[in-house]
Amino acid sequence: MAYVIAEPCIGTKDTACVDACPVDCIHPKKDEEAFATSELLYIDPVECIDCGACVPVCPVSAIFALDDLPEKWSDFAAKNAAFYGK
Ligand code: SF4
Repeated sequence: MAYVIAEPCIGTKDTACVDACPVDCIHPKKDEEAFATSELLYIDPVECIDCGACVPVCPVSAIFALDDLPEKWSDFAAKNAAFYGK
């Protein structure tokens, strides 16, 4: 089970989560080419170690454990994985 970034990240892309993640599994980062065109940031579902460190630093509460992902945003689990081709 990985953590998932959902709809509130769209238009925000704060990146505090990127700095908080101990395994560097949140992308695109500000210095990556895809950052400018990405709607939101994404968590790699394979690399995520489920530590939860990203959750409290998100200013718009966009990050959820998969089990807690609101039903209205359930498609974001697949969106996060798709960014990594997973
Ligand atoms: Fe990174 Fe931990 Fe958040 Fe997973 S739960 S994306 S490992 S900070």
